[in-house]
Amino acid sequence: MKKDLSRVFDFIFVGAGISGPFIANDLCQAGCDCLMLEAGKQFTRKTYPTNGLDGTSQLYWSGGLELGHDCKIAFLRPKVVGGGSIVNQALVDRFDEDAFASWKAVSGVDFFTVKDMDPWYDKAESEICIQEIPAEFRNKNAQIFEQGFKNKGYQNAPLRRAQSNCRLEEGNCCIECLNGCRLGSKQSTPETVLKKALENDLTLVSQIEVVRIIERAGDVKVIGKDPKGGMATFRARNLVLAGGAIGNARLLLNSKLDKKLPRIGHDFYCHPQFMSFGRYDEKINSHLGAFQAFKSDDKGFRKNGFKLENVYAGPEGISLLIPGFGKKHHEYMEKLSHFACIEVCTRDTAPGQIRVNRKGKAVIKKVQNAQDLSRQAKGTKIIEEIFSSTGAREIVHGQFGIGLHLMGCCPIGTDSKTSVIDPEFRLHGSKNIFCADSSIFPNAPGINPSLTIMALSKKASASILRSR
Ligand SMILES: Cc1cc2nc3c(=O)[nH]c(=O)nc-3n(C[C@H](O)[C@H](O)[C@H](O)COP(=O)(O)OP(=O)(O)OC[C@H]3O[C@@H](n4cnc5c(N)ncnc54)[C@H](O)[C@@H]3O)c2cc1C
Repeated sequence: MKKDLSRVFDFIFVGAGISGPFIANDLCQAGCDCLMLEAGKQFTRKTYPTNGLDGTSQLYWSGGLELGHDCKIAFLRPKVVGGGSIVNQALVDRFDEDAFASWKAVSGVDFFTVKDMDPWYDKAESEICIQEIPAEFRNKNAQIFEQGFKNKGYQNAPLRRAQSNCRLEEGNCCIECLNGCRLGSKQSTPETVLKKALENDLTLVSQIEVVRIIERAGDVKVIGKDPKGGMATFRARNLVLAGGAIGNARLLLNSKLDKKLPRIGHDFYCHPQFMSFGRYDEKINSHLGAFQAFKSDDKGFRKNGFKLENVYAGPEGISLLIPGFGKKHHEYMEKLSHFACIEVCTRDTAPGQIRVNRKGKAVIKKVQNAQDLSRQAKGTKIIEEIFSSTGAREIVHGQFGIGLHLMGCCPIGTDSKTSVIDPEFRLHGSKNIFCADSSIFPNAPGINPSLTIMALSKKASASILRSR
């Protein structure tokens, strides 16, 4: 690695999550001199936190949950080299025509069709390994999900997961991988494209938070801060914003770019997710074995704007979600091994907004409108049917929603009055600032976002290289 950070780089990347490494890998392979700045720490397979409390406090912004202004939804925003690809559940799905048609209508961007995006999904998928959980390794939580769907006549499907070898035959319990996969099976960017980019001379500096960018004729000045408050300035001919929805919005607002582009920070979506638990007489041990085998695949659910997932979480997460205090809460926690879990994930229609306060911190405003609440209620009713039909003694609903799929705030579009990024993945009106991460989503697709972020990033790097 070339150590001199004072040179003018071809590209600086803000953020080493999913999009940044996907684009950097292609640009480095093409011979560009790239610097990647990441606010979070860099871990290895051996150093990932081993329990949920450490994981939450070390791998996320603000030490874990960030609450919306009305405290009804808690947001989880990764802060680590690898970003969401380290902590996520690794579910990878392509968008359907419905999601793209809605994006095309809102943005005016004509490549948003399944046909036009398919080659970019192919390229993205060629960088990772995708598997399903083999039937013999589905745990009891998955069996209840499958049986309940069968009982009620709903369609489900095995989940496609970005993983290579979870060594389930050795009795491995995948829930630990939510703090980073110690087996190297999860196809996080440090295991895939980031590794390749580093082999191709990417310079990566962790624990530098970019606080301001200044675009000048011919280059971009990037001001970063280390955890002790030390400041440093970096320069590049081009900049790639890859800090995610809230990260990019916050940086652009603090850099006062909203004066030119008033939609920065608007159109924030998050697929609010609500977990419910079925308590059974027998032990379910949802935390053991393979993690998340199934998803709903029911046309009626999609039409009604929600999906169900066969999910679980560590005890620290579940203790926050379970209602009640003192003895009652304690009783629930004692029965944790008797819980199965299903979550409803809604395709939210009410856009939120990210602003910054006087200290430059992000303030999240996100409410669910009547339509979103009705989508949540329909999904929750079906979860109750599934648990009841499989013999649950009691059904317990989580007491607040979680926002994990943070999207929008710099939406892509043809019109700079209604969008922030143009169809060539450039900041409107800018020659050398690019973006293709979750922040460019024009609205909520209702489908897991990671694979589409990878596909858009592959498309963006081709577009950037073409324009050089
Ligand atoms: C617990 C959890 C489970 C999830 N499960 C799934 C799933 O199964 N399937 C799926 O498709 N999606 C899932 N997601 C969502 C998915 O991980 C995100 O949509 C995805 O990671 C977004 O990619 P990104 O490149 O836009 O940003 P991120 O992956 O969030 O990366 C952004 C990076 O930029 C850094 N950054 C931000 N601002 C700055 C700054 N100013 N200076 C320096 N660095 C900065 C951040 O620290 C972060 O590391 C999950 C998310 C979470 C939290």
